[in-house]
Amino acid sequence: MKYEPIICFETHVELKTKTKLFCGCAVSYGDEPNRHICPVCTGQPGALPVLNSRAVELCVRTGLTLNCSINKRTRFARKNYFYPDLPKGYQISQYELPFCENGFLEIQDDNGNPYAVGIKRIHLEEDAGKLVHSSESFDSADYSLVDYNRACIPLLEIVGDHERNPLRSIVQAKTYLDKLRQILKYIEVSDCMMELGQLRCDVNVSLRPRGSNSFGNRTEIKNMASFRFILEAVQHEIKRQAAVLDAGGQVEQETRLYNEMKKETIPMRSKEDAPDYRYFPEPDLVEVVIEEETIEKIRNSLPELPDDIVQRLTTDYDIPYNDALVLTRDKQVVDYFDKCASDCKDARRAVRWINRGLFELMNDASISITECKIAPEDFACLINLISEGVITETIARDVLADMFKSGDAPKTIIEKKGLKPIQDASIMEGIVDKIMSGNPDVIERIREGETKLIDFLLGQVMKESRGKANPKTARELIMRKFEENAD
Ligand code: ZN
Ligand code: MN
Repeated sequence: MKYEPIICFETHVELKTKTKLFCGCAVSYGDEPNRHICPVCTGQPGALPVLNSRAVELCVRTGLTLNCSINKRTRFARKNYFYPDLPKGYQISQYELPFCENGFLEIQDDNGNPYAVGIKRIHLEEDAGKLVHSSESFDSADYSLVDYNRACIPLLEIVGDHERNPLRSIVQAKTYLDKLRQILKYIEVSDCMMELGQLRCDVNVSLRPRGSNSFGNRTEIKNMASFRFILEAVQHEIKRQAAVLDAGGQVEQETRLYNEMKKETIPMRSKEDAPDYRYFPEPDLVEVVIEEETIEKIRNSLPELPDDIVQRLTTDYDIPYNDALVLTRDKQVVDYFDKCASDCKDARRAVRWINRGLFELMNDASISITECKIAPEDFACLINLISEGVITETIARDVLADMFKSGDAPKTIIEKKGLKPIQDASIMEGIVDKIMSGNPDVIERIREGETKLIDFLLGQVMKESRGKANPKTARELIMRKFEENAD
């Protein structure tokens, strides 16, 4: 394509606090409507907000993680607009002095090189309530009800910087969103459950001729809560704008909505009807002063981040890069691995068995690692049994499936199911003899030089023993038979 897209996200994230941003009401999901409300979060006259210090802490925590500078003096501002889900008629947000500015999130660009995506600012604001329409679509609804449980839940707004390393492809946009969400979960500022609306995005898209330094007119697509739809919308918008430019036209600067059914963006409002929010400093709250000491304390409480863990796994355990990436997607999985690794003789094998075997079982059962019944030390024990050649990988798969269901230790299961490998040499020899005499044509071809067929014999032996033969011993035995009968 002759155009380069410039993509910038404004990401809203609901913080994981116990109570709301300016009152003591519980942050809670899925309860009956309007159960967690009070005069403050429903905007009753005379009610005054009191700032939740935990929300400030989580905001600073996010800012430090995303390499921002933290403003020591900040303040809140009123953003005025009318909407039924906004009981006060204004939202308490931040304007000139946000908590965090000038950060970045490092991702890999399309060539695998590090690329520090600019983050302009991160500010704290309150969420609005939620409208519940009497029918599926707003247009056909007879009435709408409003639920204020969500009103005043603390919300971070993470704003991308279109001038400092903006995202320039769909792949980068996806990488950015995935990584942002991963990190926010790692540092435990939000659960980022998209189905609950805990992470929502607005996205700005513009095009410019490749190599150009200026910017084209941008459109903003509002309020999306699914990565799939966000990326679809961006893709559609790039195509649509390219067609406008190709036809010699000009892209309107406007706000659009993505129609998920029709898979297209539609105009919502133009620049001319853009609301004037008449921001002014919030008179009901004092300036917030953050001490250097507080910032340092928060910095010291940050956990190891995914990039550092990938580095540690690849250097300390020689784990392949891609396996390390898969393992670190979820912090709980890393914790599980770390617990295994201390008891485990082969960390590479452990990662492989977590990423393939365990993940497959967890996916099939749709559970997470924290719900998995297998104790890390039992998992480590299973890996050791394979490494020591006590059981074969085939048997180990059986044992793992059983451990997953029962939560029993591997040795208990091996005992119970009689899965102990064949130790008795005469039994082994009997099986090998049976297979070899049953396949005279194969034997002949191996003698004539088709040595690859030894693997076939070995496979037959493993099958006959129902996986209980030790493949190393079995192979040695087959080779010896050939030598013995060489003439
Ligand atoms: Zn309240
Ligand atoms: Mn906002």
